[in-house]
Amino acid sequence: MTTYSTKPQRTSTDYSADSAVMETYGRAEIAFTKGEGCWLISEAGDRYLDCASGIAVNTLGHSHPALVEGLRDQAGKLWHTSNLYRIPGQERVAKKLAELSGLDQVFFCNSGVEATEAAVKIARRASYERGESDRMTVLCASGAFHGRTIGMLAATDRPAFRTGFGPIPDGFEHVAFGDLKALRDALGSHIAAVMIEPVQGEGGARNVPEGYIEGVRAAADEFGALVIADEVQAGIGRTGTLFSFEPYGVRPDIIALAKGLGGGFPVGAVIASKMVGDAMTPGTHGSTFGGNPLAMAAAEVILETLSLPGFMEDVRRRADRLEEGLMAIAGQHPDKIAEIRGRGFLRGMRLHQTSEVGVLVAALRERGMLTVPAAENTLRLLPPLVISDEEIGIALDLMALALADCA
Ligand SMILES: *Cc1c(COP(=O)(O)O)cnc(C)c1O
Repeated sequence: MTTYSTKPQRTSTDYSADSAVMETYGRAEIAFTKGEGCWLISEAGDRYLDCASGIAVNTLGHSHPALVEGLRDQAGKLWHTSNLYRIPGQERVAKKLAELSGLDQVFFCNSGVEATEAAVKIARRASYERGESDRMTVLCASGAFHGRTIGMLAATDRPAFRTGFGPIPDGFEHVAFGDLKALRDALGSHIAAVMIEPVQGEGGARNVPEGYIEGVRAAADEFGALVIADEVQAGIGRTGTLFSFEPYGVRPDIIALAKGLGGGFPVGAVIASKMVGDAMTPGTHGSTFGGNPLAMAAAEVILETLSLPGFMEDVRRRADRLEEGLMAIAGQHPDKIAEIRGRGFLRGMRLHQTSEVGVLVAALRERGMLTVPAAENTLRLLPPLVISDEEIGIALDLMALALADCA
């Protein structure tokens, strides 16, 4: 089912043979020196249309004036003080995240996996504080991706990520993706929380079936479990709403955020309801860098920009346009393209097994467009949310050309 090899091939190139950088990524032999909006400029001076956004990170593209100004201004004042003192930028960003999510409290960290780990710690601690110390297991979906620490490898059931890193910690169970009955059957008095990605990113831009998210919320309530939404990839406007669970009209208890939140500056956050967050008292969790003034300056610009009147409506309009174009292309290549999936600007083009996604990613790169492969032989398109109508047109033209290249 998964197209990731459990034994990755070394993609040795002249560059990597000389490099002291550990080969944890199969890197393309290309380096960028500048970014402008949705375009990246390589050392060789070639321009690439960025439909990867550094894997869903560059929410406002590259060199966005408001981000540059916000960070530059803060860089001249103060970088870091530690969480031993109040950080006014944190208080502002936390208030905004609480307002936008309908939850109450925010913990700041530096990455996605720190956010998912903290989310699990908070859920467990909330059980403990309620006197339910046996309620510690977290229920996850198969094919999910929650990050790569030893703890989160236990939440991520794909062998490609786990092999050779055992022993994997206990306290996590998996149910089939999108299967509400399986989820209900697995719930019980030992489950602290259900952790879900409302749209699976690494799993191949996979949408949950209709009614699933509402069903998860209802089942969790029935069995006394919390709901953790892993919005690390799908959040911050990526799927057309600020949070990807929004269209379902339900509210999780805990939300993990990172990737797009800093627009390229490393920042993660966990948002929790008061009931759950109150379980965390001084000394129970921490992060040296978490929520430092520079990170908060970036996050503040991102949240302010996404909250501007009409911003998200326009994202949805342009995302629909991309979808229409991709559907048309899929109609022209039924031999290669199995399905268009995902939502907003987290789009997937799943290929038939006869077409290798890596080949299409490389063909697109040759044509000057950057995309990201995902599981299930799926090409992922993650353009900056500010991609213009004209740039969407260019992306679709390049897709058509690259598919022809792969004939
Ligand atoms: C990327 C990702 C993570 C891990 O984020 P890192 O910043 O790489 O640690 C966790 N969950 C989801 C859904 C992700 O897409």
